[in-house]
Amino acid sequence: GARMKVLITGGAGFIGSHLADRLVIDGHTVTLLDNLSTGKRENLQGPARGARLVIADVRDREALMRAARGMDALVHLAAVASVQASMHDPLATHATNFGGTLNALLAATACQVPRVLYASSAAVYGDEAPTPVPESAPLAPLSPYAADKLASEHYLAYFARTRGINATSFRFFNIYGPRQDASSPYSGVISLYAQCLATGAPCVVYGDGRQTRDFVYIDDLVEVLARALIRNDLSCAVMNVGTGIEQDLLALINAFETLAGRPIVCDFRPARAGDIRRSLADVTRLRAAFGYVPQTLLSAGLRHLLHDL
Ligand code: NAD
Repeated sequence: GARMKVLITGGAGFIGSHLADRLVIDGHTVTLLDNLSTGKRENLQGPARGARLVIADVRDREALMRAARGMDALVHLAAVASVQASMHDPLATHATNFGGTLNALLAATACQVPRVLYASSAAVYGDEAPTPVPESAPLAPLSPYAADKLASEHYLAYFARTRGINATSFRFFNIYGPRQDASSPYSGVISLYAQCLATGAPCVVYGDGRQTRDFVYIDDLVEVLARALIRNDLSCAVMNVGTGIEQDLLALINAFETLAGRPIVCDFRPARAGDIRRSLADVTRLRAAFGYVPQTLLSAGLRHLLHDL
């Protein structure tokens, strides 16, 4: 296949490091830009050792300019990936989550990087969306995090339209897998429950446990991004990345129990304000573009995850 020079912002994080592994294996020349705020060098011990790591901040436009020079593609993943953090300190997270995107786009256009992929989020849909939710659904960001993702999408579309770059925003649903941070109570629910399984702590369930998510195994997301990278005919500005399968938290806990071969104690607590009830991607557009839809079964994905702990 075509060998490309690819810059991944947030490349030392959970998703970025897996993407780096894959792109190095595919023979691309990979540069990672990360400030190591939540990203870690330990994430880069696999094939990503073959990538160059630039320790820099996406709020630093000059650093992005230098890193973007000569690149064939930019994958912009760097963000404070926490809805809760954005509610506590919107000014700080905005500087990275929106300002970082604008800097990345200015660098990509100044350096004539022809292709930009962006990590948006299902959070742009809010809580009233139809299920499954198509890209055309009304958007209702409920947090500064989601508002910054949505604004970033619009800026991507603006630069695509006016500067002729190829830019696509991918609305990730709930991504899970090895290396996902479990250190905060607001981490992804799968990484939290995996941690509970390892330590014997009870799994905290807010509400009745019937809230649903569309869980995507990390390798499947990476497959989508790796395919998108070598395409210059993606005509859409936004695309869902989900499985099209909805799982509730009780089913998730059940899958963990089956793998562990023992019951798991749940700690039921009152529902949290702002917790989204149902989340499920309509993957029609994804399937049409790639002839591929994430399909790792939850049981298989969880097995990989536990194996890696
Ligand atoms: P992560 O925290 O592991 O990755 C984010 C990376 O960005 C980290 O390596 C961090 O050090 C880096 N970073 C943060 N601020 C930075 C800054 N100012 N300058 C340079 N680097 C900075 O989280 P992740 O799950 O890998 O998320 C990657 C992207 O995907 C984020 O944009 C996130 O919002 C998005 N996303 C993730 C999910 C999910 O389920 N994990 C869902 C939707 C969207």
